[in-house]
Amino acid sequence: VLGDHRIDREVNSVCPFCGVGCQLTFKIRDDKILFADGRNGPANEERLCIKGRFGFDYIHNPDRLTVPLIRKEGVAKADVANLDPANPYTHFREASWEEALDVAANGLKKVRDTKGGNALAGFGSAKGSNEEAYLFQKLVRTGFGTNNVDHCTRLCHASSVAALLETVGSGAVSAPFNEAENADVIMVIGSNPTVNHPVAATFFKNAAKKGAKLIIVDPRGQALSRHATYMLQEKPGTDVALLNSIMHVIVADGLTDETYIKEHTENFNALCAHLKDFSPEAMEAVTGIDPAIIREVAHVFAKAKAAIIFWGMGISQHVHGTDNSRCLISLSLMTGQVGRPGTGLHPLRGQNNVQGASDVALIPMFLPDYQSVEDPVIREKFEKFWGASLDPKKGLTVVEITEAIHKGEINAMYIMGENPAMSDPNVNHAREALSMLDHLVVQDLFLTETAAYADVVLPASAWPEKDGTVTNTNRQVQMGRAAVPMPGEARQDLWIIQEIARRLGLNWNYSHPKDVFAEMTQAMHSIRGISWDRLEAEDAVIYPCESPGDPGQPLIFTKDFPTANGLGKFVPASLISPDEIPDAEFPVVLTTGRLLEHWHTGSMTRRSQVLDAVEPEPIVHMPPVMIEELGAKAGDLVTVRSRRGEIDIRVRADGAVQNGMIFIPFCYAEAAVNLLTNDALDPFGKIAEVKFCAVNVERKSA
Ligand code: SF4
Repeated sequence: VLGDHRIDREVNSVCPFCGVGCQLTFKIRDDKILFADGRNGPANEERLCIKGRFGFDYIHNPDRLTVPLIRKEGVAKADVANLDPANPYTHFREASWEEALDVAANGLKKVRDTKGGNALAGFGSAKGSNEEAYLFQKLVRTGFGTNNVDHCTRLCHASSVAALLETVGSGAVSAPFNEAENADVIMVIGSNPTVNHPVAATFFKNAAKKGAKLIIVDPRGQALSRHATYMLQEKPGTDVALLNSIMHVIVADGLTDETYIKEHTENFNALCAHLKDFSPEAMEAVTGIDPAIIREVAHVFAKAKAAIIFWGMGISQHVHGTDNSRCLISLSLMTGQVGRPGTGLHPLRGQNNVQGASDVALIPMFLPDYQSVEDPVIREKFEKFWGASLDPKKGLTVVEITEAIHKGEINAMYIMGENPAMSDPNVNHAREALSMLDHLVVQDLFLTETAAYADVVLPASAWPEKDGTVTNTNRQVQMGRAAVPMPGEARQDLWIIQEIARRLGLNWNYSHPKDVFAEMTQAMHSIRGISWDRLEAEDAVIYPCESPGDPGQPLIFTKDFPTANGLGKFVPASLISPDEIPDAEFPVVLTTGRLLEHWHTGSMTRRSQVLDAVEPEPIVHMPPVMIEELGAKAGDLVTVRSRRGEIDIRVRADGAVQNGMIFIPFCYAEAAVNLLTNDALDPFGKIAEVKFCAVNVERKSA
């Protein structure tokens, strides 16, 4: 079938596999998506990567949940951790929607009414629509009575957002990634875009081919470095030292933009004093980078007419993730490289709708549009708008919720489209927490590792089966359209959320996602000028968008910053070690991430025939020298062990990984790397240090 391209229908939508947000056309025959073609969307200009082109057959996979399930009497949750998704009936029984929704809602209600709203929590999803994310957080806040609502952003860019809000007053990107085409210097740091944002990477490559200087900073080598002027392969976890040393040179050599600093920033003197100790020579032992190269890079960046910075999880997923971002922001501010074409700060968002889900408040500390839950005026405004009283305290984040379950403070959860039993750091601890809950409702496409712990499993809709909007890394709100019917008795997520809400006493009557979107535009100043009809006509509108005729603002911070005094703030960052330093027992640094072919925990892409055929089994990327030292060869099985767990996994030789370090993708349930990772948190963003922990590696005897 994959070789036969005859189609009987086409539907225009958006790719759901990463934050780039490529517009595409589904090619359909007999209600099956065969493949997709790229459209001329603002983020992709007709391009797609392998996931966007061939990754949709997961929705037709026989593992799809097609009927609600209820855990059988007497089956303990801890016993179902290794449940076979293809045969759930040893542990679950089928139920009608009426029964499943009643059991799901009654369990949540019982905990709410006996222990209070803060004994409940919800994880929503950045893989669904804005409307679903908005309604889910509204349900948790007004139906559960708590702000304990979060999603994968906590494990993604929470520290970047914390730093951006603190310094420039807005967590969103200041410019679309396409602005790389107008830059003469592009810095890509802690990000591997050819793998994680493949279509965005094509814009960076094109800019480099046209003469822009590309500076890549990454402890792991990467394909984009073929186009780079500078590839700084620093020691892992040393970004603050490296960035401070670049800024030290810029200040010492008089390369700062004095006018910009004077007119648009504050606290520069404190930063200057702080940077004195960070000469490239003093930092060489920390970063492993030749001071002469640091000096050159500092000059190139500061002298650029337009320089733009892109960063990813290599920056954010550290205990010093907020400090890493503070440094990037300072670098941009001190050189005046923000607010003009070709300049800016762009944390590349990972999941397709992580920007939108955060904007609509699927996070515990903010109401929609990042308005503080702790501000009484804002809270009162939303209490009137939603007709319900709101908890005045900010809620707990993803990893804090796991801790609260262990302490017996959270007893019931509703999880929609998230898979914490795979994605959380130190995942044994998270799995144990899931098994301790009195009541767990999971809404998903498949019987995921998390659904295995559920009391009730609700079969949900896949992205190509629903209408809805999503917001990509560029702040472009885009229209997705239902292309094929849902299988069996699976239901629209919006319908399921609303049915749970009704059973918790909320009188909601949204008949279509456009009703929810209309409410969102009333709650969120940033998208006030965007309407459902406008998106139907235009397919994408960038925010901030003030009025129906406003084209939206691709560049922000052009005049001032959305801070109290309009100024951007320099926040100095000191050196903080990674939480777990390699030692004699665990001498190797483990870092984690994605593969081009697999997305997130693999629940979708590993059920896609083409994608799984390319990368079918768990692999650890090791430098050849380490493989040789182990007496192993590529393809051999090794055991990788940390203080928290161990996995057996096959070796792949990868010269891009530096000696003393290994890389394991986190999409493989049979060798879940998060069994090994560290759940130590950045104190500001509450993001875990999944990019760095100490392990040892042993060859497994045949
Ligand atoms: Fe989809 Fe991202 Fe690939 Fe575009 S780059 S096709 S959005 S996975």
